Amino acid sequence: FLAEYDALPGVGHACGHNIIAAAAVGAGVALARVLDRAGLDATVLVDGTPAEETSGGKLPMIDEGLYRDVDVALSMHPDTRDTAGGTCLAVKTLAFAFTGRAAHAAAEPEKGVNALDAVIQTYNNINALRQHTRPDVRIHGIITHGGQAPNIVPDYARAEFYVRSAHLDYHKEILEKVRNCARGAALATGARLEMTEEPAFEPIRENAVLCRLALEVMRAFGLDAEDWSGRCSMGSTDFGNVSQVVPAIAPTFKIAPLTVACHHKDFADAAASADGDAAVLVAAKVLAVMGARLVLEPDLLRAVRAEFVRK
Ligand SMILES: [Zn+2]
Repeated sequence: FLAEYDALPGVGHACGHNIIAAAAVGAGVALARVLDRAGLDATVLVDGTPAEETSGGKLPMIDEGLYRDVDVALSMHPDTRDTAGGTCLAVKTLAFAFTGRAAHAAAEPEKGVNALDAVIQTYNNINALRQHTRPDVRIHGIITHGGQAPNIVPDYARAEFYVRSAHLDYHKEILEKVRNCARGAALATGARLEMTEEPAFEPIRENAVLCRLALEVMRAFGLDAEDWSGRCSMGSTDFGNVSQVVPAIAPTFKIAPLTVACHHKDFADAAASADGDAAVLVAAKVLAVMGARLVLEPDLLRAVRAEFVRK
């Protein structure tokens, strides 16, 4: 059971990871107790997985081999719907730092190399690129450094972009085009470019057998769970990387009406509401029952594994 727990700057638990943490721990405690009582030999692991909103705490955990002996990874996410299945976008963070040369912006501008111009050119190049990508692509960025004062030619400027796509091959293609946007800006302005990149979050690898199991158990607990198989939510998560190395699913549980936006303060309020608490309990039960069935029904686990290999 994967327990995310990080919050967002300014808006707190507007992604509801407090609910994920409590539900995963609850599922772990419940399932371990059942397995002990039944005398079954299986290991329940509850992982606290930090930094889902930023660098992706699950990535080093995967690299360290934490999931090597794991049969199935289960998690959940609070949402405005009850769903199981579906995938999401791969995302990679690219940072472009440009170094130019400072000069008096009025008296001797010809002696300067304007790093801010290089950032603006990069931004505009990416805006042009955005018109000619497939619809699953999302590129969005900010300028983190833009100079010191209007009368000094900026000798340092920096921008940061998230680049997303639903398909890993196409993601690689778009990433190279985005890099070229910055390279072209460096060439045009004469500023020196330094690129840094974070490891990519990968799309969720769907598992139809786990999806059917999740829907069945959620409905048994009275939830009106929708099958989101084949659909792509436009966000990204390091849970996607876990799903690439081990069969995994994270159904969503409704805590707020459809009008409430995730990453908004209203969602943080919902995550601390009675509906939020109810979602913790039902999600813990659903995940625990899914875990119990995967232990008790070897054919089910085999089918999950076969589906993982097939995909
Ligand atoms: Zn979030």
